[in-house]
Parts: sequence; structure tokens; C-alpha cells
Amino acid sequence: MAASDVNFEKLIAPSQGERFTFDSSGDPDTPDNPVVCLIEGDGIGRTFDGVPGITETSVEVIDAAVEKAYGGKRKIEWFNVHAGDASREIYFPDVTDEDLKGLPPQRQRDCYLPQDTLKAIDYYKVALKGPLTTPIGGGFSSINVALRQIFNLYVCLRPVRHYPGVPAPNVNAPKVNMHLFRENAEDVYMGVEEVGGTERAQKIINLLNEELDYKNRLAEPIKLSSGVGIKPISPEGTKRLVRRAIKYAINLGLPSVTLVHKGNIMKFTEGAFKNWGYEIAKEEFRDKIVTEDELWADGDTFRGGAPKGNPGGRILVKDRIADSMFQQIQLRPEDYSVIATPNLNGDYLSDALAALVGGLGLAPGANIGDGAAIFEATHGTAPKYTGQDKANPGSIILSGVLMLRWMGWAEAADLIERGIETTINESAEAASKGPGGKLYVTYDIARQFEGYSEKDGVKASEFGKRIIQNMA
Ligand code: NAP
Repeated sequence: MAASDVNFEKLIAPSQGERFTFDSSGDPDTPDNPVVCLIEGDGIGRTFDGVPGITETSVEVIDAAVEKAYGGKRKIEWFNVHAGDASREIYFPDVTDEDLKGLPPQRQRDCYLPQDTLKAIDYYKVALKGPLTTPIGGGFSSINVALRQIFNLYVCLRPVRHYPGVPAPNVNAPKVNMHLFRENAEDVYMGVEEVGGTERAQKIINLLNEELDYKNRLAEPIKLSSGVGIKPISPEGTKRLVRRAIKYAINLGLPSVTLVHKGNIMKFTEGAFKNWGYEIAKEEFRDKIVTEDELWADGDTFRGGAPKGNPGGRILVKDRIADSMFQQIQLRPEDYSVIATPNLNGDYLSDALAALVGGLGLAPGANIGDGAAIFEATHGTAPKYTGQDKANPGSIILSGVLMLRWMGWAEAADLIERGIETTINESAEAASKGPGGKLYVTYDIARQFEGYSEKDGVKASEFGKRIIQNMA
């Protein structure tokens, strides 16, 4: 099918650029001029009256890196598509807030995530996305969650590392270099839950108490007034996630993959996640991995400390219970590299990790499936900074870095990472000489240097330009 065969209501498909194709494992074969859909996002993502939002600034940095790395041989063709407030303004300008509340959930969602956008991503398969507001009180789930579900983007990948010079609350921050694979499609985020006291909730409770005999298995029967949530975790869902995590570790030469679970309490969901994770590691990657148990059995005693990765050049596969993992990432971050975990654990862990290294401004994310991917900042729309060219664009820029690596354009990704490192480093050095030095970082980093306040930060667009200058 050609782009011209897709019937858009208001979008005009790019006249240049090619679609991504994918191999049988769902990994991309990237053309030299791929079309990537671009969702500017709400709040700090949007450009207003010529004042650039963080998405526009990020695209400038990504384009500059691609141009510098490939000298015009490769280029991304951006296709602007709409979601969030922009979509409502373009597609449904006459729908008032009052009208919106009266619409059924599907129609409400259409206002913020129009069919045109879904068709474009479905056709081109890849998008970079700024943050989107979740309208509070709307009858539909978050647009971010909807996009992951519609395109079956079952991996949420969040790499977290410390950038030298960024002040961080934990002395071990410089040792943090983790790559979190959070399961995106199962677990409690599936939204299988019922309101307490309703007929539907009571049906489920009756089934559990009576037919499945929980009234005799528990100290007291489940109360009929309870709200109920279901936590489905399947072998298929687990194995496709852990497979991607191990392949990623192999491709990047990383030392270990840790399965994080709460299997001591939730045996048949979280505990099964751990078992299925080990199963696929041994079934599909036998010659490339070794498990912690196997090392113990071999007499390699490292109790009280994890073995330092890559024993015998193989990837160490191990598991940790979720609560213990929260202290491990603070006390022994150097022992952890790739992490694979069910949805809710991953949600908590990714924010804790981002905080550990100095905040959300430099926390990128990717939602990846077989044959489709959406790359996005992990923070929200920070509405109080809208239209000020102030918020840190680092998270979207680094989401672009993730996208470039996923595309196989590592040279451009490396250039951006080095540009960011140098830019932060030179500011940290200036700040270390005392107050009054010239900084090139945004307010959120500037205010963390001793003797400096957020007023010493530069505009987001200046930070972006400095990153471009420092790409080498
Ligand atoms: P938020 O937008 O992430 O902002 C919370 C605080 O985090 C900001 O006030 C700011 O802290 C800091 N921050 C966030 N982004 C930053 C950046 N780029 N640079 C520097 N600092 C940054 O969280 P929220 O206020 O709870 O959420 C606002 C809206 O975003 C909600 O509608 C929410 O649903 C949505 N949201 C969307 C996504 C997504 O699109 N993936 C994710 C999360 C939330 P300081 O005040 O200390 O400067």
C-alpha cells in the first residue's frame, strides 16, 4: 500500500521518505530517509508564537546529529501528526468542555487522539512523541496508555544513567547505568477492575468466595463491598519481554539481566514471571547466558554480593525481589545493568531510578513492539512552564537517541550523547569555581549547583544549540 492510499482527513502524507520495514523478529530495517511521525505534545512540548517547545528543540538536535554523522546520506523525514490539545483544536474546534463531558468515552478519546494520527502511526510504524496531558475526569484512559495498547507496544524501555556533573541525591549515582525493560501490556495496567459494591464486582467476588472456595481458604471471605482488580501475567507476555531484554544486552554487550518480581507473595503472577524469564533465557540463549544459581552450583560463592557481570563472557541472568531491588539500586547500582520486570514494579522503579541520578529532565523512554515503536519523554507536560522555552528538552532528545540506536544509527546517537555530556560537564566545571560562572544548562540542572539558582539556567533552545556545538 502507498501512503497516498491512506485516506487522511486533514493530514497530508510526506512527499519524500520511506516506510520502515521489519525483519521476522520485529526489528527494523531502516531506510536512509525514514518517515517518523512527530507528536509535538501538550504544555512544554508545544511551540507557541515562535517560542519553541522542547519537541521542536529536540528535533533540531536530532537532525543536526544525523547530518553531522552521515553528511546528507541519511535524513529523517518528520511527519507532524496531532494528539492532545492540538488535535482537539484542529479536528474538533467546536466541541466545548461541557460537550466533551457528555460524549461517550470513545468519542472523547477521538478528540485527543484522532483517527488520522492512528492511521499515520499504523502506516509508518514509528513516532517520536512529546508529553501529553491526561484530561482529569475524562471517561477514557490516558492517551499515552491507549497508544501503547493500540499498537501492542509491549516493552517500555527506560535507560537510566548518570551524567557526570549533574548533582544527584545519592553518592552512588555515578555508578548507575541501568536499562529498564518494563512490561507494558499486562499486569494491573490492563485496567481489568471493577468498582466496589457494583453488581459486576460482586459477581467476581461471589465466584471467588463460593465457586473457587476462597471463603474457606482465607481467614474471612472477601468482602462483597470490595473493589476488585485482576493482575493477569502470561508466559507469552513475559517471554516476549525477557527475550527483548536479553537480545538488547547481547547487542550492547551488557553484563547482566535481572528479573525483578514480587514472587514471594504473588507466586502465580510475579513468581511465574521469574520462572518463565529463566525458562526463555535457557531455551533460547543457552550459550550466551549463565544464571546465578548455576554459578552457585559451580561453587562460585559470592553470597553477600553479586558476581561482577559477564562470567566467562556470558550474560549473567539473576532475579531480585522487588522490595530488595529498591535498596539494591541505591546501595549496589554497579551490580545491575538490564532489568526486566512486570508493569507496576517497572513504573515505580523507573521513577526511583530517574530521581537517583538527578531528576526527570534527562529520563528518556521507548515503547517497543514487534514492528512498531513510539519514543517519548517520561515526564509530563509541566504546564506551569508552557510557552517559556525553559523546561529541559533532554528527555525527548535522549528518547531520540534511543530511537536512533533502535534504527541502527549509532553514530548519530553517540554524537548527541557526547554533546550532552560535554555541555553538562562544562557547566559543572564553571559552577565548581564558584558563583557567577557561565552555564549552558536549563534551570532544573542549574539550580542544583552550589551557589546557583534556577535563574542561572539558559533557555531550553540555547541548551539545545550548545549540545549541537559540542557534538564531536
Ligand atoms: P510533570 O509534567 O512531569 O511535572 C512535574 C514536575 O517535574 C515539574 O513541575 C518539574 O519540576 C519537573 N519536570 C517535568 N518535566 C521537566 C522537564 N522537561 N524539565 C525540567 N523539569 C521537569 O508531572 P505532572 O505535573 O504530574 O503532570 C502534568 C501532566 O502531564 C498530567 O496531565 C499528566 O497526566 C501528564 N503526564 C504525561 C506523561 C506522558 O506524556 N508520557 C507522563 C507523565 C504525566 P519543578 O516544578 O521542580 O521544576
